[in-house]
Amino acid sequence: MSVTAVVGANWGDEGKGKITDFLAQDTEWVVRYQGGSNAGHTIVNEWGKVVLHLLPSGVFYPHVKNVIGPGVAVNLGTLIRELDDLQALGVSTPKLFVSDRAEIVLPVHLLLDRLEEERLGARQFGSTRSGIAPFYADKALKIGVRIADLFLPERLSDRLRRSLELKNILFVHGYHQPPVDPAALLSALQADASRIAPYVADTTALLQQAVSRGERILLEGQLGALRDPDHGIYPFTTSSSPLAGYASVGAGIPPYAIRRIIAVTKAYSTCVGAGPFVTELLGVGGQTLRDWGGDGGEYGATTGRPRRVGWFDAVATRYGAAIQGATEIALTNLDVLSHWEEIPLAVGYRIDGKVQTEFPNPARLDDAEPIWETLRGWQTDISAIRDYRALPGAARDYVERVEDLLGIPVRLVSVGPRREQMLAKS
Ligand code: GDP
Repeated sequence: MSVTAVVGANWGDEGKGKITDFLAQDTEWVVRYQGGSNAGHTIVNEWGKVVLHLLPSGVFYPHVKNVIGPGVAVNLGTLIRELDDLQALGVSTPKLFVSDRAEIVLPVHLLLDRLEEERLGARQFGSTRSGIAPFYADKALKIGVRIADLFLPERLSDRLRRSLELKNILFVHGYHQPPVDPAALLSALQADASRIAPYVADTTALLQQAVSRGERILLEGQLGALRDPDHGIYPFTTSSSPLAGYASVGAGIPPYAIRRIIAVTKAYSTCVGAGPFVTELLGVGGQTLRDWGGDGGEYGATTGRPRRVGWFDAVATRYGAAIQGATEIALTNLDVLSHWEEIPLAVGYRIDGKVQTEFPNPARLDDAEPIWETLRGWQTDISAIRDYRALPGAARDYVERVEDLLGIPVRLVSVGPRREQMLAKS
């Protein structure tokens, strides 16, 4: 099976970066297919702890070809900064291909994102303010600027003019801001264009050829299934589809080529931003889980915001894994649960007094209460264990209960942030 998707089963931040980095050692291509720099993938390897926002997680391997596909929202400044940061770390220049069909996140998208969240005040969505929603809105309106346009001066200035026509009316009369000058935007883009020119390619053709040669390709999802605009917790969703099904579109490869779909889920839950979160743990319990979670606490990789935390939600995760079409599960952060004597997990929801195990329409989520099952903890450090069978019995019981509840085999279990802290489960 040559094409594998690594995707999130939950709200994002499941540890996809770590899983992709781990699997990338045996792959030829790593591809980002949607989203932009609005989320971070944290990787801990021989270079230390690195957070990637836009670059694919294969950039640490000199043999891996990394692709930013047509479906990605490309912030040129972020891309250049991440490349510079890698160079400063001493990582050899990655083999990177940026699709000439990908569209560019313009500074005006960031500005619109911020102004709109400020206007909404208490009703804001909790956007990372990376310009992603205004970017995808422009794409739908067909007034975006694409990478290929950067190298065609007349076309670029025409595209910018069209893009700014309506926005400037909104800036001046809606947000009471000065208008944006297309000439200033044009020269900034041209400066960035010269930096990324060596990486620009027809990645669709490259990947089609790679598929036909049977090369190994990893498709790296951003955020998680519950953020999907169609299937997720709308309106607290993102603006592009994080589903494995969309990977075919956003990367430009045949849908039937994706044979292995790894849904990544944490052994507990985290969620950044606003929206319903049925198993949320508040107060001291929540702060403890936040402090002991992830790698040095559950704080957003992009914004540094405290992540909302809660126990594992089998209802939401089974749904998330199903809409991903998961063929297997990678369970991360199991080590975090080592502190507790007893570990609750939600096995159903109660809505209007009725118990259900199917994920409801998001319009009903605010009324859902979790139905808990409690498993015994193991209260011993498991982060140095490298063989699944060597885990304490209670830890294996936990993994196998998750597997039962999801109805999908768990194949990878992560017991720490570092690359080597990974157990294979047959
Ligand atoms: P992604 O966007 O899905 O790649 O996830 P993030 O990088 O935003 O968040 C995952 C967090 O969990 C990061 O801080 C990782 O370093 C950390 N992490 C990943 N796997 C493990 C694990 O098994 N144990 C612990 N303790 N931390 C992990």
